[in-house]
Amino acid sequence: MDSTMIKINRKKYDSHPDVQRLINAAPRWDGEGKFNWRIEIEGRGFHLRKKLLPVLLEMTKKHCAFCDYYPLSEELINPIPIEHFFPKSKNKFPEKAYEWRNLFPSCNGCTSKKKDRFDEQLLKPDEEDYSFDTFFEVSGDGKLMPSKIADSKSKERAKVTIEIYGLNKRGILLSERKKHLRDYLRIAPIDDIDNRPYRFLIENIKEPFNPDDVINRFFQ
Ligand SMILES: [Zn+2]
Repeated sequence: MDSTMIKINRKKYDSHPDVQRLINAAPRWDGEGKFNWRIEIEGRGFHLRKKLLPVLLEMTKKHCAFCDYYPLSEELINPIPIEHFFPKSKNKFPEKAYEWRNLFPSCNGCTSKKKDRFDEQLLKPDEEDYSFDTFFEVSGDGKLMPSKIADSKSKERAKVTIEIYGLNKRGILLSERKKHLRDYLRIAPIDDIDNRPYRFLIENIKEPFNPDDVINRFFQ
């Protein structure tokens, strides 16, 4: 099972025709002036956001790539942010502004917490060797924590990632995680995992489902 940050299988979408166009002929940005999603590829207009948002949403099954909020839905006054993992600002990584592997669908909370911060330790959910369980665990009060059994380097990466996306600093996020965990415990086993937020909570409910085990694990 795919496991928040839930592991993302990006390769599967590399062959999409619009992704291919971008990979093969993306322009370079120098970070000057205002960033524009509308670019030109092989002499033709290409609205990167319009073309690739549907692909990105399919890739994460409409979840935020970082906190696993669901469902991301497009509204005129509140468009879904596409997050540049490597910030596109002039003094950071403008050359990656139009790079396919640098684009993630995000919720407003994660994007506005991260801004253009970056740290080399920051976890990237489409990395080959990334999985939630390698780096994180969830406590009973809805907090994400570095996994107790992870090595020190992995613990540090989890800590940096939690900090940069504010994954334990947003009150709504914490209370929502707690609420959903209680729901999931009540209705487990759950067979439509991808239609629910914070899927990592569900994955901590092991089969066969024993409520006492999970309650011991989370609420003591
Ligand atoms: Zn988010």
